[in-house]
Amino acid sequence: MQLRQDDPEGDWTAPGVYEVGAGLYRIPLPLPQDGLRAVNVYAARDGDGLVLVDSGWALAEARELLEQAVKVLDCSLDGVRRFLVTHVHRDHYTLAVALRREFGMRISLGRDEAGTLRAAQDPAQPPWAGLLAQLHRGGADSLGRELSAVPSQHDVTDWADPDDWLDAPGVVELETGTWQMHATPGHTRGHVVFVDAARDVMFAGDHVLPRITPSIGFEQQPAELPLRAYLDSLKLVRGLPDRRLLPAHGPVSPSVHARVDELLDHHDTRLRQIEKTIEAGAGTAAGAARRLLWTRRGRHFDELDLFSRCLAVTETLAHLDVLVIAGRLQRTGEDGVYHYAKA
Ligand SMILES: [Zn+2]
Repeated sequence: MQLRQDDPEGDWTAPGVYEVGAGLYRIPLPLPQDGLRAVNVYAARDGDGLVLVDSGWALAEARELLEQAVKVLDCSLDGVRRFLVTHVHRDHYTLAVALRREFGMRISLGRDEAGTLRAAQDPAQPPWAGLLAQLHRGGADSLGRELSAVPSQHDVTDWADPDDWLDAPGVVELETGTWQMHATPGHTRGHVVFVDAARDVMFAGDHVLPRITPSIGFEQQPAELPLRAYLDSLKLVRGLPDRRLLPAHGPVSPSVHARVDELLDHHDTRLRQIEKTIEAGAGTAAGAARRLLWTRRGRHFDELDLFSRCLAVTETLAHLDVLVIAGRLQRTGEDGVYHYAKA
């Protein structure tokens, strides 16, 4: 492995160490499912050590690649001082937990992830509890049953609390600089983004992704209105100075603002489409999801894999609840299943 200049036109998932700024590097690490393919870990030089944004998934292959990458930077895993983690999802957090057991580096995570993290460490909690509850509200119990039949990868020992809880908005003091941190709930409740103004970049985690839209409220204890939180968080980062976008999945992109505008447009369109399915008699989130097209390729609901069908229902549910708050639809609940009609 050798240090290379980052090429935003190249295959962003190819293992390596890519220079994206002064003393700043992108290290893509593999993920086990084909959906997202890889996660970017960013390493910033800080004094004689490194600070890492996000950690990757606790897999032997990811650990091996990260170890090689920090060596290329004339450092070692021992020299990694701190993990700043954007959110609690497994692909961002669990390798930090595994490495801390060996090397004792410090892990920092947004405070509003505490509830999900507590549930993840509780052997009595079914791993899909949050998702199953949403599927029930969405009128998709049959998907819930299918999901429950899949053997779970969940292992409580993958999880542990961070060393410190980040309270955003605020600043993160590093040895050689100060970063700003902003609360961006939506993808998860406690998602945060970091801004390194000196390097003119935003570490956006999964809040702003260049090629896909992040799942909304996929967590053990979703917020009441995760999509509304997400849209507010998009507007929040749109109100900050524009910077280069350093996403957790996908290539580095020139403008946070440009992508946020596309995402806001996308959700506007989606809200209108979902409103129409209800006017046409869809009734529930599951009913609406079946009438929509999914992914950038415009796939039908039934062509999606099981997990994507579950996320499609929860995503639709999140949009429906925003339409209710906006007064465009009304909601009634029968046995905890939400039914929607024109307001
Ligand atoms: Zn992710």
